[in-house]
Amino acid sequence: MAAKGPRENIILECTECKNRNYMTSKNKRNNTDRLELVKYCKVCKKRTTHKETK
Ligand SMILES: [Zn+2]
Repeated sequence: MAAKGPRENIILECTECKNRNYMTSKNKRNNTDRLELVKYCKVCKKRTTHKETK
C-alpha cells in the first residue's frame, strides 16, 4: 500500500529505556523537527518522553 502525500511512518522510542513503544505517522511538511511526545511506557511503568526514531 503506497501512502498518499508526504506522510511518513515513524517509531516512538522511550528515551529512558530505549524501548520502541509506539508507531505513528507524521506529516513531513508540517513537522520537520523530530517528534517528541510524553507517553506511558510499560517498561518504565511511568510516563516518559518518547522520541522519533528510525
Ligand atoms: Zn521506558
